[in-house]
Amino acid sequence: LVASMEEVEQTYIMIKPDGVQRGLVGEIISRFERKGFKLTGLKLFQCPKELAEEHYKDLQSKTFFPKLIDYITSGPVVCMGWEGVGVVASARKLIGATNPLNAEPGTIRGDLAVQTGRNVVHGSDSPDNGKREIVWSSAFELLLDMNETYIRIF
Ligand code: ADP
Ligand code: MG
Repeated sequence: LVASMEEVEQTYIMIKPDGVQRGLVGEIISRFERKGFKLTGLKLFQCPKELAEEHYKDLQSKTFFPKLIDYITSGPVVCMGWEGVGVVASARKLIGATNPLNAEPGTIRGDLAVQTGRNVVHGSDSPDNGKREIVWSSAFELLLDMNETYIRIF
């Protein structure tokens, strides 16, 4: 079996505020479930500005960065961990191109979105980022629940 030789990966999938507001949570989750990946964590969460900035730190220099942070913090997001062989690249395929107008029909963005700045879902772009993004999202929740000193983890 080819698949058994490949490594099980983790990815961080986040339904962005427009996806939640438009009632697309079930639709998006079902696409990952039907593909056959394993859901390992899920929460509805209002992302604070500091965490959004940490999450998108590689895009800090872009002109759209402030708008991106406003967008991600504009309402609750659904944070999820998904696991499986090849899940990082496969999830990116299921999600489709960053600009929904370039995303193929059959992908989440290709079927459900129009604007780059309202593209309904995030998926980690590498196994390392998958681990990083999942770790901070769960650590953050734990610390937030315990004592609200979450910013200290950075
Ligand atoms: P992806 O989400 O496909 O990995 P990027 O990592 O390049 O894409 O960008 C992160 C997010 O920033 C995008 O999903 C989108 O919401 C936003 N974004 C990227 N490029 C632009 C742009 N030119 N204008 C507005 N928002 C953008
Ligand atoms: Mg990205």
